[in-house]
Amino acid sequence: MSESDASTANQVDVAIVGGGQSALAVSYFLRRAGISYVVLDNQSEAGAAWLHAWDSLHLFSPAQWSSLPGWLMPPTTGQYPSRADVIHYLADYEKRYEIPVRRPAEVKSVSRRGDRLLVSTNHGDWLAKVVVSATGTWGHPYIPDYPGRRDFGGEQVHSARYRNPDPFRGKRVLVVGGGNSGAQILAELSQRCHVTWVTVEEPTFLPDDVDGRVLFERATERWKAKVEGRPDPVPSGGLGDIVMVPPVREARERGVLNSVRPFIRFMNDGVVWADGTRSQVDAVIWCTGFRPALEHLRPLNVINAAGRVDVVEGRSVAEPGLWLVGYGEWCGFASATLIGVMRSARSAAAQIKEYLSSLEEQTA
Ligand code: FAD
Repeated sequence: MSESDASTANQVDVAIVGGGQSALAVSYFLRRAGISYVVLDNQSEAGAAWLHAWDSLHLFSPAQWSSLPGWLMPPTTGQYPSRADVIHYLADYEKRYEIPVRRPAEVKSVSRRGDRLLVSTNHGDWLAKVVVSATGTWGHPYIPDYPGRRDFGGEQVHSARYRNPDPFRGKRVLVVGGGNSGAQILAELSQRCHVTWVTVEEPTFLPDDVDGRVLFERATERWKAKVEGRPDPVPSGGLGDIVMVPPVREARERGVLNSVRPFIRFMNDGVVWADGTRSQVDAVIWCTGFRPALEHLRPLNVINAAGRVDVVEGRSVAEPGLWLVGYGEWCGFASATLIGVMRSARSAAAQIKEYLSSLEEQTA
């Protein structure tokens, strides 16, 4: 990137990379503080990761427990909001708070240019005093490296790309992964095809009456106790344990909610199990999670060996103009959830306001 590119770039105080719920929550607080900002999102419409979730996905928490700052998600027809409900809510939220989102704008890199950060996109460049990275994890699916995986001739789909069971009708399918994605996708696939659920250990199922709201309350109690140096005050049950949403409960009633321990390697047409037996397999659905999508930050040299950025209260330790919001607990308590991101976003906006004031004082 040449200096002339920087000289023709648009100027803004804050550039937010990504246009999902984390970006919108930060926008809400920046707007309230009167700070100029732009949101750069690589999708063609509002909804971010939710645009790509499978068709039948429902949240674990009722609408009012799945809300961003300032405006509760309107009540939904079902007990738990659907994927479409969340997409509508995010789109309406953008309009309600007049959030300046540029779409589609793929941020290719963020690099330092003197006292500014140059944000280069496929639709023009931005010079910002601050960058908030809120690119989530959806764009960086994780697949474990099983021996022979590349020689397997069947289909492989990560949950990031799985939409519905139709393409798998009548096929022999492995669902790999012991979290909520694995349980929900297994539940619906088991009605259409012969499916085997592969998990590293026996999955942890929560009691039927524990939903995302209860989990969030428990996690909050646990977090407060940790901050205050008290012992863990609540029974076990983490945000990653399996919530018994109606389709998963129904799969349990049908007796199909059973898992087996992993195979040891792939063959061209199937897998070999630890005891040496072989199974023919047509497709594997990887429900094995995600990693932070941080490629655009590479020029700043802030990505650590774990593929994250070292932060304190969401602010990069190495790059004073960079904040990270969303992604996971390392960015702030429950930062990757709709209701939990408020705390991280509010804190980031308050710090950014202070930082911008200190920059102004330096130049005055
Ligand atoms: P995202 O929603 O991923 O948004 C990031 C945006 O940035 C995307 O539009 C992405 O395309 C874009 N982007 C990425 N890289 C670039 C780039 N270089 N340039 C420009 N744009 C870029 N949370 C709850 O609160 N309740 C639930 O019930 C719940 N259920 C879930 C179920 C599943 C199966 C999953 C996977 C997650 C669930 N979550 C739930 C978690 C959480 O809501 C999501 O992880 C959420 O999408 C995180 O929001 P985000 O804004 O940080 O990231």
